[in-house]
Amino acid sequence: MRKKYYNMVENMKGKIRVFCRIRPLNRAEATQGGAIVVEKMDEYSVNLETPRGQREFQFDKVFNAETTQEEIFQDTNRLIQSAIDGYNVCIFAYGQTGSGKTFTMVGDKEQKNPGIMPRAFNAIFDIIQENSTKFDFKVSVYMLELYNDRLQDLFASLAGEAQSHGQSRRVEIKRNRKGVVFAQGAETKEASSAQELYALFQQACANRHISATKMNVESSRSHLIVGIMVESRNLTNGSVSCGKLSLVDLAGSERAAKTGAKNHQLKEANSINKALSALGDVISALSSELPHVPYRNSKLTQIMQDSLGGNAKTLMIVNISPSECNIDETLTSLIYATRVKSITNNAQRNLESKEIAQLKEVIMKLRSGQTVEDEEI
Ligand code: ADP
Ligand code: MG
Repeated sequence: MRKKYYNMVENMKGKIRVFCRIRPLNRAEATQGGAIVVEKMDEYSVNLETPRGQREFQFDKVFNAETTQEEIFQDTNRLIQSAIDGYNVCIFAYGQTGSGKTFTMVGDKEQKNPGIMPRAFNAIFDIIQENSTKFDFKVSVYMLELYNDRLQDLFASLAGEAQSHGQSRRVEIKRNRKGVVFAQGAETKEASSAQELYALFQQACANRHISATKMNVESSRSHLIVGIMVESRNLTNGSVSCGKLSLVDLAGSERAAKTGAKNHQLKEANSINKALSALGDVISALSSELPHVPYRNSKLTQIMQDSLGGNAKTLMIVNISPSECNIDETLTSLIYATRVKSITNNAQRNLESKEIAQLKEVIMKLRSGQTVEDEEI
């Protein structure tokens, strides 16, 4: 009870939420007969058995191997509603390669166990459907990959642009007046149903860089960033709100040596680590409340600027392996996640009155050379 109410207060204060998910022992680990060193103690605590003794960590929720994708999503659903209400929301998965980040965010290959992304696509359009008599909605999406510290618009290469121009259009990370991050130069596509959104997502995924490493043949060595913008116009009073839901599947957080990465893969590992170590610097600056937060040190931290110490409602899912052979990475991940938990954000709705929305429309018209009657204003 105490932990539960403590969590509720932390949430109200704008603390970043952190969930911990322990994946099941995989076949390789099971055949090796490796010991299980991670245990969920209660809904909020996880215990790690290290050679130097027990370490207990507290999170906003702890999920174990038995937890279903549905149960995880039930606890994230509230955030989808927030994005539609005009908040800036970010959900991201962190952890070493093979710890279950992609399983959590996307699901399995056959989509027998869909993860947060496809479920969020459905939830967005379910909520839109329920409110269609009171609001007009517009949903648009960009999908980016950060690979070797280069931002790739996954929709641009889709259109064959990358090939025909030798390189794709430059994507730059900017922030609007309200501090919300957007990807300038990235193609934004509209979707009018969950199916359409999922089809766009699948096409974009086909453009990602994927290579095998020793730890996980399916491992992706790049960060995937999906940004979904939901604009809603209140049909009664004309006010407009713009929410954004960022869904991020980060590359593996492990140090290069363990994955057996070589040559060009090592270069990849370095720049993955560069982005993640920059992320670590940002998190440590924020959690110790330093006056300067080094967001500009990598593209990843620029993209996540509004989600860490910014104006977003943020949920981090730290994925961990239960096995003894991964104990070092697990401990590092849990310490990292504990630091993130102490960061406070200040989320505010991006809402405009009918009057401001109208004035902006007028400015847009004037900019594009149209004439505007005074009465319209
Ligand atoms: P990561 O993206 O962190 O590298 P994956 O999500 O690809 O890791 O997970 C590695 C493997 O473990 C995949 O085959 C995945 O399907 C499986 N897996 C991960 N988490 C779970 C889980 N909670 N339940 C069942 N299988 C899982
Ligand atoms: Mg992955």
